[in-house]
Amino acid sequence: MLGPRNPVREQENPDVLRPPSTDRGSLPNLRFSSADSHVKMREGGWSREVTQRELPISTTMAGVNMRLKSGGVRELHWHKQAEWAFMLAGNARVTAVDNDGHNFIADVGAGDLWYFPSGIPHSIQGLPGDGCEFLLAFPDGEFSEDSTFAITDLFAHNDRNVLAKNLGVNVKALDGIPKEERFIFQAELPPPRLEADAVSDPLGAVPLDMVFRLTQQPPHQSSGGNVRIADTRNFPISTDVAAALVEVNPGHMRELHWHPNADEWQYYISGKGRMTVFAAEARARTFDYQAGDVGYVPMSMSHFIENTGSEPLRLLELFKSPRFMDVSLAQWMALTPHELVAAHLNIDRDILNRLRKDKQPVV
Ligand code: MN
Ligand code: MN
Repeated sequence: MLGPRNPVREQENPDVLRPPSTDRGSLPNLRFSSADSHVKMREGGWSREVTQRELPISTTMAGVNMRLKSGGVRELHWHKQAEWAFMLAGNARVTAVDNDGHNFIADVGAGDLWYFPSGIPHSIQGLPGDGCEFLLAFPDGEFSEDSTFAITDLFAHNDRNVLAKNLGVNVKALDGIPKEERFIFQAELPPPRLEADAVSDPLGAVPLDMVFRLTQQPPHQSSGGNVRIADTRNFPISTDVAAALVEVNPGHMRELHWHPNADEWQYYISGKGRMTVFAAEARARTFDYQAGDVGYVPMSMSHFIENTGSEPLRLLELFKSPRFMDVSLAQWMALTPHELVAAHLNIDRDILNRLRKDKQPVV
């Protein structure tokens, strides 16, 4: 290179700078780093998002990375999309009330999921010692945390006399309401014991649990790593988002596969990897990923993810679907008449006899 260079960026993108010889043709961009996202800073925490505006191909899913300090509150709000979340670090207390008047409150820690169905109002508050940080995902690429329905915004933009009449209080009681949306704000800590904070609901709690302790479930182990799946089979309320938490050990890979039912939205939690996406018509492109990156794979395009670092590669695979589904290249080949497969590829059929017939998501 004789012209301008950006060595730091080049080091992050070895497979873009010097693509493998199998890459060919054009594919849309399939990566966006959270580090390139605008941070919305508030007293009590911050948020940043990767949506279709940042990554145009990601039409089916948008993600928000949020940090709440101890006591920091993501204010009471709702939105038309469902909310799926994964706690990355720390602890939070979440609340919701459903359309039938059942309430929900739970404390969540690292590795836990929560799910609020579309339109259901909810809140999140960071707990001691140092609050929390989490990933939110919404099954709509155009979602934005800037356009949710917030309780403070509602109070600021309805006639105060009407609000007072609605609540059956004197209008003077509303003198102190905020003049604009708070979004995230610093509040006093809630009572440490959940039971002391919970409101008794004459109708009882929500019928379906809104929290799922994902990393407390035993993973599906394979030779090079492990996978945990959360979808409506074990987390029934999560009708709009299916998820897999994947760990790939150094030197190993998430096997060549594709998804027959939905696009894949990825969030890289730790480690380094590279993914080649094969798009038919002789097109393929390789991207490098690291912690905080969002990746995307359109439905049915085959892909693998190879751990290129020295620590475990951890990522979330999310789908706008009630069910996680994938098709394994190796399993397909193992379960198809071997003479037929061998004739296509001009390979020894002994190779096919040795292929495992069960799925090996990480090899
Ligand atoms: Mn929300
Ligand atoms: Mn996949």
